[in-house]
Amino acid sequence: MLNIVIFGAPGSGKGTQSERIVEKYGINHISTGDVLRAEIKNGTELGKTAKGYIDQGQLIPDSLMIDILAGVLDSFKDSKGVIFDGFPRTIAQAGALKQMLAERGQEVSVMLDLDVPEDELMTRLIKRGQETGRTDDNEETIKKRLVVYHSQTAPLIDWYKSEGKYQHIQGVGTMEGIFADIVAAIEKL
Ligand code: AMP
Repeated sequence: MLNIVIFGAPGSGKGTQSERIVEKYGINHISTGDVLRAEIKNGTELGKTAKGYIDQGQLIPDSLMIDILAGVLDSFKDSKGVIFDGFPRTIAQAGALKQMLAERGQEVSVMLDLDVPEDELMTRLIKRGQETGRTDDNEETIKKRLVVYHSQTAPLIDWYKSEGKYQHIQGVGTMEGIFADIVAAIEKL
């Protein structure tokens, strides 16, 4: 089982690199952001709740997010592993993921931390907002999301270091070069 947590600030390239990892290793992909955006698009109750948080650049409450994740995880049959993209984002979520996997006789194989400087993140997200119309990719909301990242999500770096799962990845360069570094990290597991 290859269970990968792909980690990094908003705009660090988690989604892009996840697609390549899925293609190469044939594992399942959970992007919690994509799950929530699909709920919003479908006009569900969950979507309505999520939209309020997302538009403010805030995190969806842990208990709700953990339930959503457990549901998606259970929907995978005969899985070779999972790439977790955008989850966990808090220490509580990381603990819940550890427990959920342990209940299934599994564990996180590695946490890949895509490290990108703040000015580069801002440039990438503004560009993505212009290209895709993603409503939380505007300067004001991006700033809030980066504050939330530093206060609530970045502490996971030390958490995964203490679990012995942390792997730093230089997140600036060509897409191919970054992917090669990711593959090298996975191959040495
Ligand atoms: P993303 O597409 O991963 O950048 O997520 C977009 C937004 O969805 C975030 O800014 C949060 O509001 C929400 N979100 C996604 N994943 C999580 C999570 N694991 N915990 C809480 N909120 C989340």
